[in-house]
Amino acid sequence: MRAWEANFRKVEPYTPGEQPKNPRVIKLNTNENPYPPSPAAAEVLRSMDPALLRKYPDPDSSLLRDAIAEYYGICPDRVFVGVGSDDVLGMAFLTFFNGPKPVLFPNITYSFYDVWADLFRVPYETQPLDKDFRIVPEDYMKPNGGIVIANPNAPTGVELSRDLIEEIVKANQESVVIVDEAYVDFGARSALPLTEKYENLLVVQTFSKSRAFAGVRIGFAMGHPSLINALNCVKNSYNSYTMTTPSILLGAAVMKDRAYFEESTAKVIATRERVKKELSALGFTFGDSKSNFIFAKREGTDAKKLFEAMRADGIFVRYFNKPLIRDYLRISIGTDEEMDTFLGYVKQYLAKQGS
Ligand SMILES: *Cc1c(COP(=O)(O)O)cnc(C)c1O
Repeated sequence: MRAWEANFRKVEPYTPGEQPKNPRVIKLNTNENPYPPSPAAAEVLRSMDPALLRKYPDPDSSLLRDAIAEYYGICPDRVFVGVGSDDVLGMAFLTFFNGPKPVLFPNITYSFYDVWADLFRVPYETQPLDKDFRIVPEDYMKPNGGIVIANPNAPTGVELSRDLIEEIVKANQESVVIVDEAYVDFGARSALPLTEKYENLLVVQTFSKSRAFAGVRIGFAMGHPSLINALNCVKNSYNSYTMTTPSILLGAAVMKDRAYFEESTAKVIATRERVKKELSALGFTFGDSKSNFIFAKREGTDAKKLFEAMRADGIFVRYFNKPLIRDYLRISIGTDEEMDTFLGYVKQYLAKQGS
């Protein structure tokens, strides 16, 4: 080891889902939206004056914050924006979790939380889900330095009711509670209204899934202005220009197209409900997903082998080789046609296995 390597920050990075180079792959592994973004995005790209790119972007991203605030009927001083919700969540860990007590989150959840906690030297303690992958609110009612809950949870897709979220927030008014709502637009209830009542609640959402903008990188947090101010102070101590001019313009335009958003999320939801029925008929079991994926297992079928066979034939789903969930596959909801190809493959595979 070189002497200076002793001073390197030791980190175990997050592993994102695979992005295959072959465009013909059926890609059901990273919960992207199968439909294109609002046509408002194409219009911005067509009409944007490249001379705008000469200047630094607006460090406050006002146009984008205003569009988000207007959509949700809140004041812009209650909105923080970042480079995807990963940036927003990372910034929130850095901003709010600086105490000696452990931050609490479920043992099965978005696998970036423990990565940020380790990166920022935040102590944490994971809490088990129950046998149906539900969060147990009582586990979050002990001394802590903060709480993070993905709702619907990932990779399970299971929703925690707003009433139970409120119980957790109410019992923890001395900590910041973050609710990561990356998938909330696919049929779950947002905790946003609770931010008017509880100053310690931060709701985080993203354009990546429901607004088909994973490639643009826009995430946002909503909550009391004191939380938003604190986030902005940390952001401006690190990098003032997180949002590019194109992403500010694109995000604002897409946020205004409510009709397209509602129509495309409804399509994903309808496909999900149909795929649930078909997977049940094939003997799969899963929690009642309120997200754009289904986390399913099948008694007698080796999930890893099915995952590998499908991958070899150009159908990508996500497999986590981790305790508690290694019998499961996480299947993103694609177009109806993609899901039919997937279901056809699974049927054939099971027939060949004689199960
Ligand atoms: C996808 C996802 C995110 C991050 O998405 P961004 O693309 O960074 O906005 C955050 N949390 C969960 C639970 C996710 O699934």
